[in-house]
This record gives sequence, C-alpha cells and structure tokens, in this order.
Amino acid sequence: MKPAILVHGGAAKVPPEILALREEGCRKAALRGFEILKNGGSALDAVEEAVRAMEEDPIFNAGRGSALTREGQVEMDAAIMDGSTLKAGAVGAVRNILHPVSLARMVMERTPHILIVGDGALRLARLYGLEEVPLESLITERQRAQWRNAGSFPYEGDTVGAVAIDADGNVAAATSTGGLIGKLPGRIGDTPLIGCGTYADNLTGAASATGIGEAIMRVVLAKTACDLLGQGLHPEEAAQEAIKILERRVGGRGGIILIDRQGRLGWAYNTECMPIAFEVG
Ligand code: ASP
Repeated sequence: MKPAILVHGGAAKVPPEILALREEGCRKAALRGFEILKNGGSALDAVEEAVRAMEEDPIFNAGRGSALTREGQVEMDAAIMDGSTLKAGAVGAVRNILHPVSLARMVMERTPHILIVGDGALRLARLYGLEEVPLESLITERQRAQWRNAGSFPYEGDTVGAVAIDADGNVAAATSTGGLIGKLPGRIGDTPLIGCGTYADNLTGAASATGIGEAIMRVVLAKTACDLLGQGLHPEEAAQEAIKILERRVGGRGGIILIDRQGRLGWAYNTECMPIAFEVG
C-alpha cells in the first residue's frame, strides 16, 4: 500500500493573508506526518505528528492559537482513532497543555476510557508527564482581538485534523481544536466525539471534520462520511455528499477530509475556504 496523509486547517472564513499562512502550515504538517509514513511508521503516529505540528503553529485554532471562551479562557478538545482496532481516545475542555492530541492518545492507550474532560484530563496530563504550559502561552494576539470583536455566536470553526493510511493499509484520524470563539465555559464540540468530528475504520476509511460542532454532532458527520465510503463512493463524492447532508438536514456549515481503504483522498466544505495539504508516497 502506498502511504498517504491529508490534513486540514479548518473551515473558517479568514482573510487571504491568514489563509496563505494556514496553507503553508498545512504543508509543513503533512510533511511532518508523511516523514513518519515514509520511514515505515504507522498511520496513527503520522496523524498525531501532523496535528502536533498544527497545535504548535499559532496560526491555527488548536493548541497555541486556540479560540477563547466567553470568559477569555482556553479550553481545548481533541481526538484520535486507530482504524485497525477501532480504538479511540479523546479529551474535552482541557487547559494548559500544548498537545491535546497526544493526551487523547494517552487516554486511548493507557486508560480503559475514551473521553476524559476538564480537570480530570489535566490531571491525567500531569500523571503522564505531558508538559503543562501557562494559559497565556496558548493565547495569541489574533485570538484576543477576535474575542474582543466577537459579535453574535456562533462563528465558523477552524479546527485542525489529519487522516492517513500506512504501508500496511491501516487508517487513522486525529482532530484538535480550541472550539468556537465565545463558547460557554465547559462547552464541548464535535471534535472529541467519536463518529462526529473524528472517525477511522480499516473497513471503510478515516475522516476528520471542521465547522459548527453543534450541527456536525447532529448528523454524526465523520461516521456518516465513512459509511458513504463503505457504500463504495469515491472519497471525493463521499465528502461532498456528507457536506450536503450537513447542510440539508441541519443547515450546518463546515468541511471534512477523507481517506479510504485504498488510500484515495477526498475533501469538501460549504464555507468559503478550508486549507488542506497532502502527501502521497
Ligand atoms: N468543530 C469545532 C467545534 O465545534 C470548531 C471548528 O471546526 O473549528 O468545536
């Protein structure tokens, strides 16, 4: 199997100069993930690494650069899923760490649970030695300005995510976000809900979504898109069909990236833009 990785940098409407930076950030993230695949690494390692790259890059709404809650705090959500085992891990409303995606992986691999939120997630991060960072270091001037100028809720989202297939034909997906600007404290979106923002199954493919979580959840978007792959749709068609379902059924706006079990790629969005990048070996 030829390895492949596809990443997205969120479906929010942004000015052209920010879009250009996000496209560049996506290219770097895809390369970082692909490096792992090229060296025989797993799809799971590749999607985690690609998402870590975007969590580090302050141009994205994940890790550093996360959107602020109504109270000006950072509360992040993330998930990761292994299509070869259907194992998944996720965190919600977690603070003070740079890499929620890695904490999600720890939840998957080191606990009997799938989703851990809030203080419990932070305590787990400490237990597993994940570096704790001051809240201030996650907040950028751009997010502060957006928060100050925020009008009515909700805004389009700009989560990050990655899907990949490795040389053994295993697929994986990971997604990470600061969520929606001005969200209520404690609000958790689609990103860490398995099947909504993130899904992976070797029998069909892998998906990572972005957009207004409250709409995405109601159509279980990532699993819906993977089911369409299972019905034999090409990932391009499946992505378009999934976004049509999001729009028609619940008036949702967002985007999705997909990889199928043959390593074919697809993506679609009904917002103004969604930066993506891919590498195929
Ligand atoms: N889907 C994310 C959420 O609702 C937002 C986004 O895509 O940026 O939390």
